[in-house]
Amino acid sequence: MADRTRQTIVVDGLALAQGIRKQLAEEVGRYAAAGKRVPCLAVVLAGDDPASASYIMGKQRACSRIGMDAIERRLPASASEQDVLLVVEELNLNDAVDGILVQLPLPEGISANEIAAAIDPAKDVDALHPTTAGKLLLGTPTLAACTPLGIIEILDHYEIEIEAANAVVIGRSNIVGKPVSLMLQRRNATVTMCHSKTRNLREVCQQADILVAAVGVPRLVKADWIKAGAAVIDVGVSNIDGTLVGDVDTDGAMGIASIVTPHRRGVGPMTITMLLRNTLTAYRARTGE
Ligand code: NAP
Repeated sequence: MADRTRQTIVVDGLALAQGIRKQLAEEVGRYAAAGKRVPCLAVVLAGDDPASASYIMGKQRACSRIGMDAIERRLPASASEQDVLLVVEELNLNDAVDGILVQLPLPEGISANEIAAAIDPAKDVDALHPTTAGKLLLGTPTLAACTPLGIIEILDHYEIEIEAANAVVIGRSNIVGKPVSLMLQRRNATVTMCHSKTRNLREVCQQADILVAAVGVPRLVKADWIKAGAAVIDVGVSNIDGTLVGDVDTDGAMGIASIVTPHRRGVGPMTITMLLRNTLTAYRARTGE
């Protein structure tokens, strides 16, 4: 029986994100006030997936709220890989564009890796270009993936000790699991990366001081997987009959975890905020501002 005597803090990712966005807005405002060009994010959407269309709208809205420019390039579901590559090339050459994000998933037959590899690494705000990913691996300064950056911000904000912590990451995707594992390891955590073939996942998770679930399996992580006092970060989002559900049984984590991110207003708002920050970082590096 789990000891439920602890006060668990439910992370307010939205409030944290709004605080960071306010700072970003002030920085962008200073460029605008000085008569300079403001940072610009370009989003590319190929196909007519309604969820993707809503994601890119959210990203554009977030840009405009902090005074950044956002431009959009839409291609039909029938677009070929070459069509998408041409758009990426146009945006690479466009001096007024600082960040390029190609919304995934792409229509069938288009390789996400080929598209990512075509983005100018200086504008790679989603951090999927091999050079960007390689720099993270080598520990050299680079743009980095937005969700992992947001997770580290949350851990730091809630004063979770990363150094020497046992961190368990469930999921090994290029966009979340691998980069967050590298970032935690760089901060001197001892990291275990788990996936669908991991044996005794529950027992592995029970050792975690920091547990990151980036899987997409609803409520995979149960109360008895969580070590007392662990920081639990729930990245997963699954749509079950119109209801969004995370990878963690959040109610079950209450009274056991030190902090837990809710599946709404948790990691999500921080992901978009880190995209804005990456765009500003790319702008500064490109313009020397
Ligand atoms: P992904 O590419 O589908 O990767 C999922 C990972 O989970 C894979 O490594 C897979 O293992 C592993 N996995 C699947 N079933 C498992 C199981 N039963 N036990 C242990 N591991 C298992 O996913 P992703 O892109 O990283 O996204 C993960 C989740 O996070 C999704 O729900 C996504 O919607 C969500 N997400 C949220 C945000 C946000 O901002 N809130 C951002 C990005 C993603 P294998 O490698 O062995 O297949």
